[in-house]
Amino acid sequence: MTELHAGDVAYLGIGSDINSTHLRGAAEAPAKVREVLHNGASGLTAETGAPVIDDPRFRDLGDNAIGDSAEEFLGIEKLVTPIVNAGARPLIVGGDHAITYPILRAVAQHHGPLNVLHFDAHSDLYDEFEGNRLSHACPFARIMEEGLAKRLVQVGIRSVNAHLLAQTERFAVEVHPMNAFRAERVPLHFDGPTYLTFDLDALDPAFAPGVSHHEPGGLSVRQCLYIIQNLRATLVGADIVEFNPRRDLHDMTAMVAAKLVREIGARLLTPNKKAR
Ligand code: MN
Ligand code: MN
Repeated sequence: MTELHAGDVAYLGIGSDINSTHLRGAAEAPAKVREVLHNGASGLTAETGAPVIDDPRFRDLGDNAIGDSAEEFLGIEKLVTPIVNAGARPLIVGGDHAITYPILRAVAQHHGPLNVLHFDAHSDLYDEFEGNRLSHACPFARIMEEGLAKRLVQVGIRSVNAHLLAQTERFAVEVHPMNAFRAERVPLHFDGPTYLTFDLDALDPAFAPGVSHHEPGGLSVRQCLYIIQNLRATLVGADIVEFNPRRDLHDMTAMVAAKLVREIGARLLTPNKKAR
């Protein structure tokens, strides 16, 4: 593996969609995001003008295909462990949202229980889904059961049921649902190591049609960027998940994912500094 140094941002793709419940295709996202990042349609900087993709501390570790067995899936943890142990900060493009569980096992093993800021239309708190406890509908149940997060803040939620609401209560999750959304209520300050996980279906399908589960009534790209750019937190890692290129239109969602790579990448490069 490329030698990493403390403070580097380790960019990598993890193409796994075996735990998706509805459609496959998210495994193809890392290659597509990498393509549009470098195709010249957009710059290599964040909106502040800070270099990101060509910052020497932004280290591209390439994409990883994950096999179809549960063992290989759980092996994602071993991809991330050497990154965090080197003091680097992973920036991972999935893959479906199931990957956040093995990623956080590695990150929390190094940093201790984390603050987790979670953008999603769904709470992903099912105890099990269609008999699969590793389903992309379940990662935050596993994360909370194992104590990998000390604080879970969910933004964009708009698809729940009685079981999910009970799980939300059980794990004391802080939810900012769309039916009561006030941007000023979303916390921007987190004490201690903080991980950002961004499911693209948090966005309204008008902004990001290339996802497996369209859930209308979502966030705008700008609302999400406001939160990301104004966070006051020590970001120790992030993922961008659930982009499904098979569902995309004119690379719209690929460009959103690439923009998130640059904006979240900028915050990982300067984790304690506000963007402006
Ligand atoms: Mn999700
Ligand atoms: Mn979702």
